[in-house]
Amino acid sequence: MVNILNCIYTAKCLITSNAPPVEGGALLVHGGRIASIGTLSEVKRHFPDVKVVDFADALLVPLLVNAHTHLELTDFPQWAKQNREGETPKNFVDWILRLIRVKQKLQAGHYQASIKNGMTQSVAAGTGAVGDILAQHAARSVYQGSPLIGSLFLETLGHDPVRVRKIKNGLDEALDDEVAGSVTLAISPHSPYTISRDYLQQIYSFCQQGQLRCSTHLAESAAEVEFIERGCGDLVTRFYPFVGWERFTPDPSRLRPVEYLQQQGGLFPENLLVHGVHLSSSDIEILARKKMFLALCPRSNAKLNVGRAAAGRLFQAGVRLALGTDSLASCDSLSVWDEMAFAHSWFNGELDAPTLFNMATLGGAEALGVENELGSLAIGKAASFQVLRPKTIVAVPDVFDYFISSGCTDDIIHIYHRGQLQ
Ligand SMILES: [Zn+2]
Repeated sequence: MVNILNCIYTAKCLITSNAPPVEGGALLVHGGRIASIGTLSEVKRHFPDVKVVDFADALLVPLLVNAHTHLELTDFPQWAKQNREGETPKNFVDWILRLIRVKQKLQAGHYQASIKNGMTQSVAAGTGAVGDILAQHAARSVYQGSPLIGSLFLETLGHDPVRVRKIKNGLDEALDDEVAGSVTLAISPHSPYTISRDYLQQIYSFCQQGQLRCSTHLAESAAEVEFIERGCGDLVTRFYPFVGWERFTPDPSRLRPVEYLQQQGGLFPENLLVHGVHLSSSDIEILARKKMFLALCPRSNAKLNVGRAAAGRLFQAGVRLALGTDSLASCDSLSVWDEMAFAHSWFNGELDAPTLFNMATLGGAEALGVENELGSLAIGKAASFQVLRPKTIVAVPDVFDYFISSGCTDDIIHIYHRGQLQ
């Protein structure tokens, strides 16, 4: 049996980050961490007696980061079917109403099983860290024993001050305990259209004082922009009555979503923004200036027909980008490999393959504050990597192009997390 505590792993090609691949690269793993890295001959020169595991024509690649998902909704497609719901609506508000209808029929046990399923699918797809949004806070205990790291964002929303106080107390309680495995507990104030101005401000100031991470859906749909700027549209006429919030319809703010968030104190780098589909040039400039992270979820945006983020302009401006699959309520898989492949065509090549790979690894790790553990293969970081064996021969210089071809998920033959074979 291979001694996982002290072992050299090598293959035809080692990908440490979005830097050029190392042909014949190797990693020395000791105590679950990377103790040395280089070509096999370099590593062996310093550690001649250590056992070598050679994956031959395969690729050694860092685990990926899914910066935005909702693992509790992994079983959503089955639930929707049982509920006799039709296809995923192509209208954002229709989609929300459908989501709520389906969730109304569920019990706590459904979510726990669904999260477990989501964790299994994520790990199998080569994901090592997640930014996972959890509305069912009690289900967080399912994370115990999971190898996934990252942030578990406890979702919160609401308008009614009395109910909001209760929600806030429950949130404080949940944040006080530590029953969530290796992920760090954080908060997700859902979105400007589901949370009152006061509560949003409270959450952001609470997070900044307590140095807690948070994550906010922002500028996902035209309906949201209309809601924030002008206090009207589908969210007001259909969503608010559906959930009994008519009396909480806000006045028009006359602000763009980014300006609105800034007014509520939400522009700090530990607030991971998600979607950013409807951003103006000045919004993008503000996000870059504030050093914000933004998780793009192109497959979800395409499925819900909400539009296309200005990925090229965001990248050029210096907004720090990550990738997320969103949930299986609006996406077909939890594979970040699939997301990268889709993103390349969806954004018409505005983001090249190494950039997309960086978003799926180091970008995501930085967005979740786990860059010292994951995101690249480097001395001192966790020995968290996957071994891919492409079905057809991939020349070393073409490795990043291979990464954005579809089908990488099926080529994974081994997953190692913190030196442990999964
Ligand atoms: Zn989401």
